[in-house]
Amino acid sequence: MKKKIWILTLFPEYFLPLIQCGISGQALRGERNGEGEGFEINCINIRDYSKTKYKSVDDTPYGGGPGMVMKADVLRDALVQGVVEANGYKSMEDLWVVYTSPRGRVWNHTAAREFALTKLSSSHKDLVFICGRYEGIDERFLEKYVNEFISIGDFVLTGGEIAVMTILDSAIRFVPGILGNKLSSEHDSFEDGLIEYPQYTRPVEFEGMIVPEILQGGHHKKIEQWQMNEKLRLTQKYRPDLLKK
Ligand code: SAH
Repeated sequence: MKKKIWILTLFPEYFLPLIQCGISGQALRGERNGEGEGFEINCINIRDYSKTKYKSVDDTPYGGGPGMVMKADVLRDALVQGVVEANGYKSMEDLWVVYTSPRGRVWNHTAAREFALTKLSSSHKDLVFICGRYEGIDERFLEKYVNEFISIGDFVLTGGEIAVMTILDSAIRFVPGILGNKLSSEHDSFEDGLIEYPQYTRPVEFEGMIVPEILQGGHHKKIEQWQMNEKLRLTQKYRPDLLKK
């Protein structure tokens, strides 16, 4: 069975390009399964679960202050009716619910790989991502229904959609067999704590600049040595903080 990923959002259209384009799109459309059984992604519009006349999903915060807060009951209905009941899950126990929020563990290369190998593996429960908007979500919904909080960095977005896309796009590349060439993720930046060496393709000369001679020859040992030196040089130049770790 394909692993299902449910996204609760006020803006399902955000996810169209993610699903339509590139390798992550193929994976999320279930056309590139890797070594598992692949994925199926479904967006649920939270607004469809509002019972008010004007389909409102938010209200003013208790205690005052600016902005609006997403209502716990509407989100609960979107989750329980829209995901659990409509799709034959026995209970919330069958799902793993992620809320993207500045309070979460900050996402990085290691977190992405860990998430891919555990939460995205076929043996794990199906996933639900909740995308917040406005000032965020009523705490009582978070307390009762959320299993994991993830932040994509110490800054504030206007909504969780871009965070969810970032998480899925960066994690899905680690699902075994998803990337065409298995080795390709192993050569990427951060894999060994360094950023990637420079890459070149044809033509050999571009605006007077020539592809390093060593890469034009076929001496693999020398090429590897050159690539390692270049990784260190570029990391020193652009991300010296990585070398300190
Ligand atoms: N008032 C909140 C921010 C709300 S921003 C606060 O100060 O923490 C609106 C939504 O964007 C949030 O509900 C969350 O889902 C998403 N979001 C904002 N910043 C994020 C970040 N760094 N990582 C992941 N999601 C984020």
